[in-house]
Amino acid sequence: MPNDAPGAHHSPDSPSGSALPTSGAARPADAVLIDKYGRQVTYLRLSITDRCDFRCRYCMAEEMEFLPRAQVLTLEECLRLASAFVELGVSKLRITGGEPLVRRNAIWLLERLTHLPGLRELVMTTNGSQLARFAPALRAAGVRRINISLDTLRAERFRRITRVGDLSRVLAGIAAARTAGFERLKINTVLLRGVNDDEICDLVRFAIAQEVDIAFIEQMPFGELGQSRRASFLSSDEALALLRADFVLVPSAESTGGPARYWRIPGQATRVGFIAPHSHNFCAACNRVRVSARGELFPCLGSNDAVHLLPLLRAHPADDAPVRAAIAQGMGFKPKGHEFGHRLDAPHLVRFMSMTGG
Ligand code: SAM
Ligand code: SF4
Repeated sequence: MPNDAPGAHHSPDSPSGSALPTSGAARPADAVLIDKYGRQVTYLRLSITDRCDFRCRYCMAEEMEFLPRAQVLTLEECLRLASAFVELGVSKLRITGGEPLVRRNAIWLLERLTHLPGLRELVMTTNGSQLARFAPALRAAGVRRINISLDTLRAERFRRITRVGDLSRVLAGIAAARTAGFERLKINTVLLRGVNDDEICDLVRFAIAQEVDIAFIEQMPFGELGQSRRASFLSSDEALALLRADFVLVPSAESTGGPARYWRIPGQATRVGFIAPHSHNFCAACNRVRVSARGELFPCLGSNDAVHLLPLLRAHPADDAPVRAAIAQGMGFKPKGHEFGHRLDAPHLVRFMSMTGG
């Protein structure tokens, strides 16, 4: 689990191999990723591991079988892939998982990603459990903003949601991240009826006290087949109504370039966001794609269509042109919109969020 010291210069997954992405053919100036609906993809969410030190109920099975190491992208392959996307016009990269900070040598990768020419934003989503240890190294590696997942402020409830997590470690991680001086921190909270709907106001008060943003996320239909989401689904509109009992909320035109709608509380720096894939479809402005820990390009979170990039990386170890071509072709699979809307009962996506990269 522990990462190597930041700044190690050898190649961590294959010590004798090259750490640098191969350049392949020069990119034509107009090579950008545009799908058939005219949307330009500028944002990649890259999962660097399917493993995690938590087992959140809405994300994973209790007994998860993780991928064999050989089926997971090496860190060098992560770097090559990210480099290929950036050459194709991606300017924002979010490192996610699984839990990205349980990936050995994650800092090694971040230190290199940050220097990719054309990359403007390097950010991460984490469960916060390892942040007390890694926050300074992440900041030093060039990570600008971090999203930290936190669904409750009650230790016992936290344990129930995550099955194994320790709330005090996440709170220590948030404190360390604040000290490390990131440009912005945001808490991500999954809305869970009957689980944390009585804490929504407390979580906003916590965010205000910590001087961080907070975004509430509607639960999406991932995970174990047959597990019904209808009972625990809480819409962003219901959450907003609950918040209005305690706060004055003013709609904000601000955007972080993502699907969240933001609200301001007069006199406070904290922004309150809602990510509502069910009730407020945001597909028309979608600018993102995901790559899973095993190198599958998912053009849409709501679809099982994927392009397998790992075999191409391994078949062409010194040439990134084939993988760039496959990425560009993958844009053709990006659907106009997802179909989460009426699928609360049986998850139609037979995979876990931790696989896809949330
Ligand atoms: N382990 C890290 C974390 O928890 O922040 C990063 C990966 S996690 C898959 C990314 C985000 O996806 C987290 O904020 C998590 O709460 C969210 N997530 C996982 N399963 C979800 C689901 N079924 N519906 C909505 N959000 C989900
Ligand atoms: Fe792990 Fe994040 Fe999934 Fe929770 S949501 S199980 S922390 S990957």
